[in-house]
Amino acid sequence: MHPARELSTPLAPAPWQRTALGANLLSPDGSLGVTIFEEMTTLALQTGAINLGQGFPDEDGPADIREAARAAIAAGANQYAPGKGIPELREAVSAHQERFYGLSVDPASEVIITTGATEGIAAALLAYARPGDEVLTFEPFYDSYGAIIGLSGATHVTVPLAAPDFMPDLDALEAAFNERTRVVLLNNPHNPTGAVFPRNVLQRVVDLAARHGSIIITDEVYEHLTFGVAHTPVASLPGAGERTITISSAGKTFSLTGWKVGWLSGPAELVSAVRTVKQFLTYSSGTPFQLAIAQGLALPDTFYDGVATALEQKRDILSQGLRAAGFDVFTPQGTYFVNVDTAPLGITDALDLARRLPALVGVAAIPVPVFCHEEGAQRTRSLLRFAFCKKNAVLEEAAERLATLRGKL
Ligand code: PMP
Ligand code: GLN
Repeated sequence: MHPARELSTPLAPAPWQRTALGANLLSPDGSLGVTIFEEMTTLALQTGAINLGQGFPDEDGPADIREAARAAIAAGANQYAPGKGIPELREAVSAHQERFYGLSVDPASEVIITTGATEGIAAALLAYARPGDEVLTFEPFYDSYGAIIGLSGATHVTVPLAAPDFMPDLDALEAAFNERTRVVLLNNPHNPTGAVFPRNVLQRVVDLAARHGSIIITDEVYEHLTFGVAHTPVASLPGAGERTITISSAGKTFSLTGWKVGWLSGPAELVSAVRTVKQFLTYSSGTPFQLAIAQGLALPDTFYDGVATALEQKRDILSQGLRAAGFDVFTPQGTYFVNVDTAPLGITDALDLARRLPALVGVAAIPVPVFCHEEGAQRTRSLLRFAFCKKNAVLEEAAERLATLRGKL
């Protein structure tokens, strides 16, 4: 076939793609689509809208760390890193867990470096979830969870988080567990809701996982982005250590989302199975970036405190603007996302609004229903997520633009 003809013919998704990756990746015309983040960023670029959709900061992370990557490249750190990551970064991750949480992890056998948290999540799920197993998550859930659970062939079971506080009902949590619950996949602080789960909720998850023999995979990429509440790593709770794989990443803490350096820690036997899978996903990830992030993790407490303080101010600027625009605002305790209910403006379909918002007022956001299965999508149908990891002036401009929405609907 002529190459041009081939390209202009849309490829229909194969049946396995539909079932494995879920409806959220299907475009309105039924073709296999892109993630909501890609869709909304493309729309923002096309319309010149302020992009409060995909979560990435508009200011790069510490200059010293960026310089360290440049220096590493100049010094010749340009070939494959060891599959489990360079020793300097594994040691830095171990020191970080000890320094912030008093957790002791052996850098040689209990830590691996991944290509972003995304790869850690994929490798951990693919190592442990099989057809016939169930994987439990809260809902809404970060989009890659649904896709990878689908690819693993396991069944995705969810427990709803409902506005305004997005806390799970503990009886519903207990009822969702059974003897097939192989993995509980937690995310704390939680994307997209901004919830930070208190100790009693996390302990209940640990106790239920212990009772049912489940492994806990916990995605804590927003661990340093909490406002007025301390982050509790699941692995630090009684009964959790032996069954928990903890995942984090440099992207959020250091405002370096494009570097895709992540890591994972846990008991050696659990981590070694994940490492086996990880070898066949990427083998290893960017050597000079690993060296630079090893330095980043050693930054003093003032750096980490400063990140959270600056973000809290940004949260407040945007939240005030969203309230003034007429939305119900659900103030997050962590992450850099704030969720709103658009229903007070008469909106019933957040996905439709998100697709129109850039052209209407010049701001892009993410509809919360895309982080849900069908029932959850109904429940969250009027919710939108806005990212506030942007310069204060940009957030103020976005707030002004959103204030004009009411008159344009
Ligand atoms: N988990 C959550 C909850 C996220 O929000 C993100 C998005 N950045 C990731 C994982 C992916 O992290 P990374 O960019 O390090 O792969
Ligand atoms: N984690 C980012 C968010 O939730 C997006 C990452 C991505 O584009 N996959 O906005």
